[in-house]
This record gives sequence, C-alpha cells and structure tokens, in this order.
Amino acid sequence: MKALILPVTRSNWSTTKGYELADVPAPTLNETKDPADAERVLLEPIYSGVCGTDKGIWFRKAFREGILHHLEQDKRDYFVMGHETLARITELGSAVKKAGRFQVGQVVSAESHIYCGVCEMCRAGNQHVCANERIIGVTWDGVFAEKVKLPANVLWPTDLDKIRPEVAAAQEPFGNAVHVCTPNMLGSNLKDSEMRGKTVAVFGCGTIGLFAILIARAMGASRIIGVEPNPKNKAKALSVGADKVIDP
Ligand SMILES: [Zn+2]
Ligand SMILES: [Zn+2]
Repeated sequence: MKALILPVTRSNWSTTKGYELADVPAPTLNETKDPADAERVLLEPIYSGVCGTDKGIWFRKAFREGILHHLEQDKRDYFVMGHETLARITELGSAVKKAGRFQVGQVVSAESHIYCGVCEMCRAGNQHVCANERIIGVTWDGVFAEKVKLPANVLWPTDLDKIRPEVAAAQEPFGNAVHVCTPNMLGSNLKDSEMRGKTVAVFGCGTIGLFAILIARAMGASRIIGVEPNPKNKAKALSVGADKVIDP
C-alpha cells in the first residue's frame, strides 16, 4: 500500500526533513502471530487531517526520543505518520466481532492514544497519559496510508447524518479542546461547567485553541481572551468569537 512514512535513525534524525511516500506492506490481522489482533480492526482512511505534531515531526522538532526509542524497541525502520482521521472499517478481530459494537463498513474516527489498560494511570482513568502509551502516527503506524490497524477501544463511532465527513476527521483535535475545557467533569453534566460566567484565557490559538474558544463560549464563558503571537491565528481567534487577543 502507499503510505507517508518517517524513515529515521538516531544518526540521520537531525539531517533529514519531511516524510517519504513509500510502498509498504499493508497491515493484516493475524491472531496466531499476535493474539492482541483479536481486539483490533483494519480500516481505510477516508479523510485524514494534518496536525501541528505532524509539522513538528516533519521538521524533526518533536517526539525525537519517543520515535527513536520505539523504532529500536520494535526493530523497525519507519512508522507511518498521521493520527487525525475518519475511516471505514474493513475487517474485525475475533473479539471485536464477538463484542458486536463495530461492524465492517462502519465509519469511525479515533482517539490518538493507544493505551495499555493496566498501568496506574490507565486504572485511574487517565488513559491519555498511559505509562506504556503508543501514539497513532507517531509510535504506531498511522493514518497517512491506504490502510491502518487500530485497537477497537480507541475508535469513535461517527454518524455522517450529523457531521460532514471532512469535519468529522477533525474530531481528535476537537476532543483535546473538549478535554481542556472540562477539567474534573468526567461524567458530570456539561451545564454545571466551571466556565459559566467566567473570564477564560486561551493560551495558543492554533486548531485546538480555536476549538477551545468555541467550546468555552458554548459552555457559558462570559469573556474569552486569546493569547497568540501569530497574526493569522489572532484573526481567526477573533472570527470564532474571542473578545480580545493579546501577545504572549
Ligand atoms: Zn494532533
Ligand atoms: Zn496504561
């Protein structure tokens, strides 16, 4: 299959740039070889988004140790990049099939953190900071490819009658913004938001910050101040409803 890969080593990390369009073996589900595949699915990305993280890796300014460590641990030469996606399920592992939550042909998005489920952080409900985490498109083959293999527990069922597909592909960064706007709110009612009637500062008005402005407003913030140096992002922050944007 065609994929955008990051073929790096410890010695060429700082002298290379960008990704490589390559023909690589497509992922398969093989439960005899890897029993964990029972809990995974194969998908074909429909739309994938480009995140600031992708840009950071492109210029070799992000995730150096994480990527090199996991490549060495897995004895691999590359990871496939990309973690924001809307994708169609093409095959289910046996346990996923049995659980009945997902079907072949179903359209889903995905949470980008692949977690172990047994470490202290996972048990405390903080799977996004799992001690053994892999990140899709960083330390786990990602979605800038014709096929991707993901654990079913990171999939996010998506109803295309309610959201346009190209927008649905941005649910992962949107989820980050929801997370920052809802501290200590797991399981509670959104109308009890701590934002209601408050002045809220949003530090950084890139994609997630812009989403955070919209969410904070929807959750009742009375005044929203963006903190952002980039003139383009400043203008966008004002256009999505920030009352004021100041330099950091
Ligand atoms: Zn991202
Ligand atoms: Zn964990």
